Formats: sequence, C-alpha cells, structure tokens
Amino acid sequence: MYSTLLANATFHELLLAYDRDLADTAREAGCPCGGVLHSAQYSRKPRPWLRRLGPEHQRRFSYCCAVDGCRCRATPPSLRFLGRKVYLATIVVLVSMMQHGVTERRMQRLTEATLIDRRTVVRWQLWWREHFVSSAFWQIARAAFMPPVDEARLPAALVERFAGDEADRLVALLRFVGPLTGGRMQAR
Ligand SMILES: [Zn+2]
Repeated sequence: MYSTLLANATFHELLLAYDRDLADTAREAGCPCGGVLHSAQYSRKPRPWLRRLGPEHQRRFSYCCAVDGCRCRATPPSLRFLGRKVYLATIVVLVSMMQHGVTERRMQRLTEATLIDRRTVVRWQLWWREHFVSSAFWQIARAAFMPPVDEARLPAALVERFAGDEADRLVALLRFVGPLTGGRMQAR
C-alpha cells in the first residue's frame, strides 16, 4: 500500500541512495567554469515521519563552485525533494494522488498526522496541473506515453504507467520527474 511507504525506513534509504548517486555524478561533472564543486547542502526542516532516520535525511545535496568569483551553485536532481519545496517529493506525490482513486483511509490518517493542511494539498495539486503540465520537460516526455496520460488525473495517472509494486512505481515516478528537481543557479 502506498500509505505504508512513508513510514518505511528501507524506502527512504533507497531514495537517499539514489540521491547520493545523482549527487556524485553532478560533483564529478564539476562547474561549467572548470572549477571544483564543494558540498553546500541545504538543510530541510525535520519532519515527523523522518525523525527515526539519520540527519542525512533532512539535507538536500547541493554544491558551490570553489573558484573565487564564480559562485555557481549546482543542485543535482533528487528523488527526495521536489524543487525547492520543503516537503518530501514522496509526500507531494502521495497526497496529490489522494483525490484520484487512492482513497485509503490510512493515508488520510497519515496526512492528518503530518499536519498537512488543505491549502497545501490544493497547492500541490495545482503544481501538477499547471507547473508540471506546462514544463518543457513534460511537453517532450509525454510523447512517450501511449495512450496519452490523462493530465487532469496527475500524478495518479502517471504512477499507474510504471511497473512493479507500489514502491517500484513510486521510485520510477520520482526518477522520471527528477530532471525537474535540480539545476544550476547563478548566486548573484
Ligand atoms: Zn565555477
């Protein structure tokens, strides 16, 4: 069941392992200026469902160029954090799915326990229907799905297209949207 994944430490360790790989790849690529990248992680607010896990689960991998005056920041794609959003990608996906078929009472209780309010849920659903759907990434990626994905039912309509059990499908979805979660930024 999807609702049990949030409380599943193995699932979170798996996401962290994917993020480490993505971070290593980004660091090895270095800065476009040729400079070496130094670790400059973002701290994320501790969340109730992660408290049993180590502090590494509260941080997002990110790098700063070591060259004086460059100040380029590279933030690798992440399966754990969706863009700059404070919430976990998993939560954003699961809660956004709730209105589209996934109506498990346990998940409802879980989101109540995590104190996510209605406005936040609505904001996330808007993120899928507006930001995600109009992104350059999705404009290209959606061509790979036949029949087309029902965009009004995102992200549930997308997670259904991946194979395996709930954990496999969710990881596949998080990897799929990964290109939307990272990027390079000029600090100034
Ligand atoms: Zn640089």
